[in-house]
Amino acid sequence: MTTAGTAHDTSTRTGPAAARQHSLREHNLELVARAVFEVPEPLSRAGVAAATGLARATVSTLVDQLVAARLVRELPAVTGGRAGRPAVPLVPAPRSLVGLGLEVNVDYLGVRVLDLTGEVVADRVVPGAFHDSDPAVVLGRLGELAREVCDGVAAAGMTVAGARLALPGLVDPRTGLLEVAPNLGWSSLEPVGLLGLGELPVRIANEAKLAALAELAGGSDVAAPDSFVFVSGDVGIGAAIVVDRALFLGERGWNGEIGHVVVDPAGPRCSCGAFGCLEQYAGKAAMMRAAGLPPDAPLAALVERLADGGPGVPDSGGASADGALPAGRALGSALADFVNLLDVSTIVLGGAYTDLLPWLRADIEAVLADRVLAAPFVDLQVRAAQAGPQAALTGGAREVLQAVLADPAAWV
Ligand SMILES: [Zn+2]
Repeated sequence: MTTAGTAHDTSTRTGPAAARQHSLREHNLELVARAVFEVPEPLSRAGVAAATGLARATVSTLVDQLVAARLVRELPAVTGGRAGRPAVPLVPAPRSLVGLGLEVNVDYLGVRVLDLTGEVVADRVVPGAFHDSDPAVVLGRLGELAREVCDGVAAAGMTVAGARLALPGLVDPRTGLLEVAPNLGWSSLEPVGLLGLGELPVRIANEAKLAALAELAGGSDVAAPDSFVFVSGDVGIGAAIVVDRALFLGERGWNGEIGHVVVDPAGPRCSCGAFGCLEQYAGKAAMMRAAGLPPDAPLAALVERLADGGPGVPDSGGASADGALPAGRALGSALADFVNLLDVSTIVLGGAYTDLLPWLRADIEAVLADRVLAAPFVDLQVRAAQAGPQAALTGGAREVLQAVLADPAAWV
């Protein structure tokens, strides 16, 4: 497996002037890389110079370095324009440096690899049942899966820049500690070492936060709004708050635990120890049970059951087949609290909710209309996520590549 080095050795700096010069070059490299990566149509060197305000000769040197480092690729020259000189369009290099997204969720393990163009070059999702599981065993299995994928990627000439591990719980990316993941039954552990991925730099993150970042990057149909609440519904339910295109993380990144918002204090006991949490009504296992399916049945079975009009179809305003609060009304209740507290007008539903939205929407919207004080004055939007299944894998891989783009000098 190829694991790339991290930052350049900076010990050759000889003094403040050299350090300044060094960091100016780093800054300019980032400017040039962003100019290439963040425009809709490829620029030539002259175009990059115009976009960045840097001298043409400086841009040319930096582009050469980015090409040599396999971050940027030159397309065949095109002739055109008034000057008539051929221009070489510059694009993010495909299948060179890649980012690795990893995930442990309650009912699957996932590994996804994205390249600098955003293409998915490898994708493995393995269903499982990891409720109250042994972290060493589960993370060991994920590590094996990751090694297999990385070996394939390396054999194809790609270099893995790093990885993000998405977890359904409270994580501290600074210390690498998972504080608690109630549905996995895990607490107070350092997951990265248990993956056994050696020198590969791996950072941990919350699943819903990474999925929201994937959503922010834009889907196929509708551009993501600048501010929204992203709700990721699986066995557990997590949320992420995006404000002005950035995650709002609270003090430690532990906000958004919408699955443990109480919707009925007299309700059933939750994996967190409290009673009547949203997860007990709108978590995937709860929705399966309400539909008369085994709690670990695949999502497709629930969709099929709902499409056939079977039990579990939330009947607006009333109870579900087994008398429990229907998922849509419970979700609407928790979301109404969010909207009342945060003043966001777009709610994006991801994970299992993306496919279930046709059966949830009416109840969610009815409760929002009832419970959100500002409802008569704002256009509250409830929409399906665009980022696709297991979006945290995509978000994690993208985060690795964003870090490369923020510091391309480390790769030159
Ligand atoms: Zn709970």
